[in-house]
Amino acid sequence: MISIKGLKKQFDDLEVLKGMDIEVRKGQVIVLIGPSGSGKTTFLRCLNALEIPNGGEITIGDIGANFNGKVPKQKLLKLRRQTGMVFQSYNLFPHMTALENVMEGPITVQKRSKSEVCEKAKALLEKVGLGDKIDYYPFQLSGGQQQRVGIARALAIEPKVMLFDEPTSALDPELVGEVLKVMKDLAEEGMTMVVVTHEMRFAKEAADEVIFMDGGHIVERGDPMTIFENPQNDRTRKFLSLIQ
Ligand code: ADP
Repeated sequence: MISIKGLKKQFDDLEVLKGMDIEVRKGQVIVLIGPSGSGKTTFLRCLNALEIPNGGEITIGDIGANFNGKVPKQKLLKLRRQTGMVFQSYNLFPHMTALENVMEGPITVQKRSKSEVCEKAKALLEKVGLGDKIDYYPFQLSGGQQQRVGIARALAIEPKVMLFDEPTSALDPELVGEVLKVMKDLAEEGMTMVVVTHEMRFAKEAADEVIFMDGGHIVERGDPMTIFENPQNDRTRKFLSLIQ
């Protein structure tokens, strides 16, 4: 479902991604961990074509782009539509209700009919447990509820892959569980997911593979048991001892 080869990204002189290779099969859940500044967010933003890589190849589903040359804008838009992104800070439109937030992408980006999109959006809000809050504005919702709207919104464009960028780190601790539950349900339904998170319990319970990144490289990768119980690399060990 995802194939990344030699992915590079730099901001001015700062090399943030130094050539990453990742293959993700359909239905797999990949959890990315690593110290702050190691390039995790930049990696997700490249997958979503919010950042344009300086080199390497990204293929998601049937759309591929080679960033060793110039990639046409149309191709970037197609690539972006392959993924739904969930942000740490929800990024909902404050002047729109939950329902309008979820409908926005399919209507403006995909030009789908309003009535069809409305039904689908209601079903998605139902799915994330917010069927009774569809007419609420973001300020009327808790952080956990806003993030669940964020997940429904990302799902609305029917992406092949869901990307989560620290989706629970802005939440009060008692609200984390409701968001992780929605994510686990999605994983169980077979959604392909790439998740940046500090929630090690989620990683242990839901990840097929954990990737530890440091300094723009993949340092170590493996199944959660191995990474958490028997990490091979010193840097992984040190990082885990600081957060667990
Ligand atoms: P992580 O998600 O692992 O904390 P990031 O991908 O957010 O790491 O950041 C990696 C590095 O790239 C950091 O040094 C950060 O300051 C830098 N960086 C990220 N985005 C930009 C940007 N738009 N312009 C300049 N530097 C950036």
